[in-house]
Amino acid sequence: MKSPSINIIGGGLAGSEAALQLAHRGINVRLFEMKPRKFSPAHKIPGCAELVCSNTFKSTLRDRAHGLLKEELQKLGSYLIKIAYETRVPAGDSLAVDRVLFSEKVTEEISKNPRIEFIREEVSTLNDEDFFIIATGPLTGESLFKKIQQLIGDEDCYFFDAISPIVAADSIDYSRCFFANRRDPDGKDYINAPMAQEEYDLFIHELTHAEEAQVKDFDSKKLFSGCMPIEDMAKRGPKTLAFGPLRPVGFESYGKRPYAIVQLRREDNAAKMYNLVGFQTRLKIGEQERVFRMIPGLEKCEFLRYGSMHRNNFINSPKVLQYDFSLKTQRNIFFAGQIIGVEGYTESIASGLLTAQSVLARMEGKTFILPHETTMLGGVFKYILEYTGKNFQPMNANFGLLPHLEKKIGKSDRYAAYAERALKKIDTTMLIL
Ligand SMILES: Cc1cc2nc3c(=O)[nH]c(=O)nc-3n(C[C@H](O)[C@H](O)[C@H](O)COP(=O)(O)OP(=O)(O)OC[C@H]3O[C@@H](n4cnc5c(N)ncnc54)[C@H](O)[C@@H]3O)c2cc1C
Repeated sequence: MKSPSINIIGGGLAGSEAALQLAHRGINVRLFEMKPRKFSPAHKIPGCAELVCSNTFKSTLRDRAHGLLKEELQKLGSYLIKIAYETRVPAGDSLAVDRVLFSEKVTEEISKNPRIEFIREEVSTLNDEDFFIIATGPLTGESLFKKIQQLIGDEDCYFFDAISPIVAADSIDYSRCFFANRRDPDGKDYINAPMAQEEYDLFIHELTHAEEAQVKDFDSKKLFSGCMPIEDMAKRGPKTLAFGPLRPVGFESYGKRPYAIVQLRREDNAAKMYNLVGFQTRLKIGEQERVFRMIPGLEKCEFLRYGSMHRNNFINSPKVLQYDFSLKTQRNIFFAGQIIGVEGYTESIASGLLTAQSVLARMEGKTFILPHETTMLGGVFKYILEYTGKNFQPMNANFGLLPHLEKKIGKSDRYAAYAERALKKIDTTMLIL
């Protein structure tokens, strides 16, 4: 290696956490941040670690997915979670912060650290010799993203993110739904929710009149094909969905043909999470709950991830990254943050922390290991690195990612038990062997 420094591109949540982790372990870091010379359409303040939209890191309760994730991060010594608690504003059980103070404090920690050289420049080139952590987020500068495309190929770089909701398998009413694959009487991969015409008509009416969230800079031309929001498709005509993603064909062997069928596709190997096929949406969260729970069998479904749509540069991590977050084809280049397909502020901080540990392991000639799969960190990043389906999409922390408990217990006790199990493992988790 020509230079002893690690180059971190992007002073957002992931890049700032990674820089502080490495610097505190005695590694020299060059942190590049393009602000204030250049701002993405969502970034507004000049400092590091800007929260671009809401000011909350979500729940602090350990029996909630984000509460558990934060507690794990605290145990592993996250600098940004510590600063978040220092700049907290009242918000009940949520960890909300004064976003300006939070950014100022992170920027101060970075600026005063003698091991961090903080460079206010946009980076658009990489080389084969130095170590890089690319942490440029969902709104990566265009020229760098082109460079990344050249490195890993167009087909594994995504621009707009249009994702469908994911629901918990054990919250589906199986007296209304059945397992089957279209045209394969022996298949059991999909859950199918049949709809009578009256149910369908009412559903379409509510879907086409539901309130949409505003999507900044949305440009439908840059959306990957097959990603049209379901509400837009439904507005083309009342029968469009019944002839499209909800077509009831291929189930003839199951008796009377329903008017429409909603299909749910398995999301994980353990079959605990299912996504609603074709339901990529930009409806507001409350509207997704109201309208999608009109689907027979989903009346009480638990949403593990909501649908969303926004510009989101991310890479096909399960295909292009190896277990330590470096590129399979160019091992000096590591990735962290939302660009690897994690969704959310806390998840991005977590990613910065883990990638920093991985770089450290590499520099010390040791092996990086992911936290145990029963932890929220292990669950999220195992998904990111090992997803085996065809359509990799960003993922947030949720309990559906963790292995089942042996004992069957009610939801709130179950989540508390998941947390207890996870925190025991984090105590003993070693990231570097
Ligand atoms: C519009 C929008 C709203 C969102 N709202 C929420 C929300 O409410 N809650 C939530 O949990 N998550 C939200 N997210 C997701 C959120 O962006 C991420 O969770 C998180 O900020 C990503 O962290 P990151 O460190 O990966 O990227 P960022 O925090 O975006 O940081 C990337 C940094 O890299 C810099 N940069 C980019 N390209 C270059 C370059 N070539 N050279 C140098 N610097 C560069 C940018 O200026 C930026 O400071 C939202 C995302 C978007 C796009």
